[in-house]
Amino acid sequence: MSAHRLVIADATLRGRPGRWRIGVDDGRIAAVTQEAVAGREEVDAAGGLVTESFVNGHLHLDKVHTLDRSGDAALTAYTGAGMGSALRAIELASAVKADYDRSWIEPNARRAVLDAVRFGVRHVLAFADVDTKARLEGVIPLLALREEFRGVVDLQVVAFPQDGLLCDPGAEDLVREAVDLGADVVGGIPWIEDSDAAAREHVRRMCALASAHDRRVAMLVDDAGDASLRTTEMLAEAMLEHGLVGRGVANHARAVGLYARPSLERLARLAGRAGLGFVSDPHTGPVHLPVLELTAMGLPVALDQDDIEDAFYPFGRHNMAEIAFLAAHALEAVDSAGIDLVYDAVTTTAATVLGVARHRLEVGGNADLVVHREATLRSVLAHHDAPAYVVASGQVVATSTSSTKLRLPGGEPDVRE
Ligand SMILES: [Zn+2]
Repeated sequence: MSAHRLVIADATLRGRPGRWRIGVDDGRIAAVTQEAVAGREEVDAAGGLVTESFVNGHLHLDKVHTLDRSGDAALTAYTGAGMGSALRAIELASAVKADYDRSWIEPNARRAVLDAVRFGVRHVLAFADVDTKARLEGVIPLLALREEFRGVVDLQVVAFPQDGLLCDPGAEDLVREAVDLGADVVGGIPWIEDSDAAAREHVRRMCALASAHDRRVAMLVDDAGDASLRTTEMLAEAMLEHGLVGRGVANHARAVGLYARPSLERLARLAGRAGLGFVSDPHTGPVHLPVLELTAMGLPVALDQDDIEDAFYPFGRHNMAEIAFLAAHALEAVDSAGIDLVYDAVTTTAATVLGVARHRLEVGGNADLVVHREATLRSVLAHHDAPAYVVASGQVVATSTSSTKLRLPGGEPDVRE
């Protein structure tokens, strides 16, 4: 038997007893077996859990590490008063764009992409503000990073009119320009327009643009503590009208968490018909999507990092195991089923939401894998360490270690890993 290009040996897998070897050839998983297959390169998982790599369903990548520039007035407004001041927060946060410049945005974004490599994040839905303040200063460096990191961290770059479309005249032309430059996804934020009619028009224009250029859509919808907001529904309707079934993502959609059950069920049916995927981030706001309920209704719901040290969230390391850990608490999903759900939401379910094919640890799946030091999902989340090995497109792209030397009085030195 000829050797595989790479073999991951002594792996623990989810839901399968025993130890396994994973053979990789040509960027794909060629074998998942308990037989002694050989590899020209071998990684010893040492009994650690091996899973699909992580997928980040939403990140404001042009704004990472800007909190020190913006101050935390927006943060206070966004998270306070049951998210009743979210609109004011967006106005305050736009101050960071007064001197928006690709020369300082690029190194910040690069740092977050390198953190993605370290933590095994393979795909990112990466939003760039494209509006009359940001112009194209955010989207241009993200497009360059997309090319540089392709195959290691794939960025789906979203041209995102953060300050609205009808209420920010000129933004629409810039979004069109960003799409012409190669942005993968057309963005939107309809809920901040001045009326439901304007919000509907915002959604219509962005879906028409996506349809005309064969792009996907991803919008920030209903992102405030206001149960009357209905732009998630508008997005699903527009996807059906513009031939975008299965090609749209609803981000945030926090107001959906305040809907009465009949409204939630109605939206779920419509979203199912439109193939609308959801992405939630309970760690960045006190109101959030009903993740467990929508998942139970059969809809794909992913979790995301959302922000890294910006005007809306002060923490974040691009560590999706940390996001799953935080979500397990916020969603009160700490039993085995809950832990499985939040882990799927940062791996396989998130891949489904982003339209990433073959993101499965099975023969024929992409060889995009993380090798954890811990053997169970529960301890992976408890520790949320960087994986021991990160494999992307069949290549080992990161290795990490962690150890502490104890020097207790009167005792022998002891190394804890
Ligand atoms: Zn966001």
